[in-house]
Amino acid sequence: MLRRERVSDHAYVFRSNLYAHVNAGIIATDEGCVLIDTLPFPQETAEIKRFVQDRLRSEVRYIILTHSHADHVYGAHLFPQAEVIGHLLARDMMIKHTRPALTEARKKNPALSSVLLRLPTLLTEEEAALRIGGFTLVLRHSPGHAPDVLNVYFKDEKILFASDTIMPIPFFANGNINDLRHSLRAVLEIPRLEDVVQGHGPVLLRGEVREILGEHLAYLDRVEAHVDEVLANKGGKKELARLSVEDCGFSATALDGLVQKLHLANMATLYALRRHQLLQKQKAAVA
Ligand SMILES: [Zn+2]
Repeated sequence: MLRRERVSDHAYVFRSNLYAHVNAGIIATDEGCVLIDTLPFPQETAEIKRFVQDRLRSEVRYIILTHSHADHVYGAHLFPQAEVIGHLLARDMMIKHTRPALTEARKKNPALSSVLLRLPTLLTEEEAALRIGGFTLVLRHSPGHAPDVLNVYFKDEKILFASDTIMPIPFFANGNINDLRHSLRAVLEIPRLEDVVQGHGPVLLRGEVREILGEHLAYLDRVEAHVDEVLANKGGKKELARLSVEDCGFSATALDGLVQKLHLANMATLYALRRHQLLQKQKAAVA
């Protein structure tokens, strides 16, 4: 069974039990529902579909895919009548990366054998809005975790679906640390924001959002300083791993321990980037 939470009058969150506590959302209106992301396995997304049909006596009219990563997009084929919305880059990235990865995943995991990728056909770049049932959802580009991430702000009930811009530990190994900083600051600037639905893990409550985002920004600084120090001392991967998740003030058991992997991947990505930048600089100095 999925974990279901009602986060406001018209917003529900469904959390995966099978992979990395991924969240999907439902906004329920008199003119139908908006599904924000799907869950990693179709059997879980099918539970959301049943909830919409049997409990809400409604149907999903739009699916917003917040980015192209597999764990958020594998269930869209269960709603063939719904329009799929995403960032312009998400469509390209799904064609280039998600689709070939799915072909491989289907061979290895029978639970995924029925998955068909649905590409977004309504595309946004910087900002767009969706009006439905008298409500407004604002879709904003929020790169950093990946280049194609969208945040969805349910303006009427002040709930932000932040996608992977906000996770139990910031994760930018497939994106860019500076973009993520910028996107986290943009969340802090949303006036009267209440709860935040992260891409993975528990819903953040109004009283804790500012503090947690402050910790995320501090984490990015801490990781950057550590990577630069390791590079300056000509250290390698072993030295990188000396900065632990706990040193950065996060729980190492969050997401069933997956956060430790994410943290190491962050540092490895940043290390490779900084080293490359350093080499370019040295080359330029010689030339
Ligand atoms: Zn992701």
